[in-house]
Amino acid sequence: MATVVMKFGGTSVGDTDKIVNIAKRIKEKKNHGDNIVVVVSAMGKTTNNLIELSKEITDKPDKRDLDMLMATGEQISISLMSMALKQLGLDSISLTGIQAGIVTTNDHTRAKINNINPENIVNHLDEDKVVVIAGFQGGSDDGSITTLGRGGSDTSAVALAASLGGSCEIYTDVNGIYGVDPRIVPSAKKLDYISYDEMMELASRGARVMETRAVELGQKYNVEILVANSHNTEAGTIIKEMEDNMETRVITGVTTLKDCLMVSVRNLPFEASHVADLFNQLSVRKISIDMISQTAPHNNLVDVSFTTTKEYTEDIIDLLENLKQELGNIEFYLNPNLAKLSVVGIGMISQHGVASDIFELLSTNGIVYYQVTTSEISISYTIKEQDVAKATKILAEHFEL
Ligand code: ADP
Ligand code: ASP
Ligand code: MG
Repeated sequence: MATVVMKFGGTSVGDTDKIVNIAKRIKEKKNHGDNIVVVVSAMGKTTNNLIELSKEITDKPDKRDLDMLMATGEQISISLMSMALKQLGLDSISLTGIQAGIVTTNDHTRAKINNINPENIVNHLDEDKVVVIAGFQGGSDDGSITTLGRGGSDTSAVALAASLGGSCEIYTDVNGIYGVDPRIVPSAKKLDYISYDEMMELASRGARVMETRAVELGQKYNVEILVANSHNTEAGTIIKEMEDNMETRVITGVTTLKDCLMVSVRNLPFEASHVADLFNQLSVRKISIDMISQTAPHNNLVDVSFTTTKEYTEDIIDLLENLKQELGNIEFYLNPNLAKLSVVGIGMISQHGVASDIFELLSTNGIVYYQVTTSEISISYTIKEQDVAKATKILAEHFEL
C-alpha cells in the first residue's frame, strides 16, 4: 500500500472550518486506499503570536523555553485535525514530533533532523489510522522539545516521506510554484515542474512557498514534492530532478528577500589577517553573510562590505565597536533598508547575455543596486527595499514569468 504524506500550512488550517474542510479532503484520499500521514503547521499566525507573547516577558528568551512555547502551536492543530477526522468516521491518532520518532540536534530554534524512528507511525498505519503529526518540531537526545526553524513543517513532511518511502504533497494557499510571487505579480504563470536546484535557489533567496532545507532533503532522498492548493484541485507544481527531455527555460523565477542589511567597513588595514579576523568573528557569532566585496588597497587600507539580515544588527554593531577599539581608525556604516533581488534559471548555464539584459533593465528603469553576486544558476542584486515591487514586475514582464 502506498504511503502519502500530506502537509497543510498555517493559512490552510487557519480556523476550524478550514480544518474540517481539509479533513474531508483527507478522507477522499484515504478512500483511494493509501496510507495517509498528515503533517500540520500551527493555525494562521499562531507561531508569531507565541513569539510576541514571549517578548512581553523578555527580549532574549532562553531558546529551550522558546521551543517549548512555539511547539504548542502545532499541538493545537494536530489535536483539532484528529478530532475533525474522527467526526468524519475515520480512525486517527495525533502525534507530537517526539512521539512520531523525529530525533534532532539540540540546536534549539534551528535544530536539524538527525534521524526518524518510524516504528510508532508504521504501527498506527498498520492499524489503518490516519496519523496526524505536528510539523516544525522534534526532540533531541536528552528528550527536549526542539523546533526546526521558521517554515520548518515543510522539512518535517519531506523527511517523513523519505523515512516512510512515501510521496510528499505540500498543500498551501496558492496553486503551486510560480515564476514570481503571485501576490506581487497577479498575472504570474504557474510552473508545471521545477528542478530541485532551481527551487532551492529560489527558496533560499526569499520565495517562502517552500522551505530550503525541505527541498534539499527531497533532492538527497529523491522524494518528488507536489506543491498544490489546499482549497482546490488544480494540478500544482512538481519539484523533481531535472531530466534531459524537460523543456529548458532561461529564467525560471525572480524572488526578493526583504530585511537585508548591508554593512560597510572602511579603512581596514590591508593585511590578510585583519580581513580574515573580521570574517572569523562573524562566523564565531553564527552571523550568516553573503555578497562580500572588497576594494583594491589604497594607502595599504581596504574597504570591505557584505550583506546579512537585520536580525543580526545588534551583534554586528557590538563586533565592529570591538574591532574599532582594536584597530583604531576603521569606520563602519549600516544600510538597513535594502532587499536582495534574485533572478534564477538553469538555462543561464548555457545562455549568454542574461546578465547584460538585467543590468540594462535595472538601469533604464532607475533601479539602483549596490552589490551583485552570481552563482551558476542565479544573479542577485542588493536594491532599495522601496524598489522591490517595481523591479519584480519589470523582470517578470521581460522574462515572461
Ligand atoms: P504555508 O503557510 O502553507 O506554509 P507560506 O506562506 O509559507 O504558506 O507560503 C505560501 C506563500 O508563498 C504564498 O502565499 C505566496 O505569497 C508566497 N510565494 C513567494 N514566492 C512564491 C512563488 N514563486 N510561487 C508561489 N508562491 C510564492
Ligand atoms: N509554524 C511554524 C512557522 O510559522 C512552522 C511552519 O509554518 O512551517 O514558522
Ligand atoms: Mg511555509
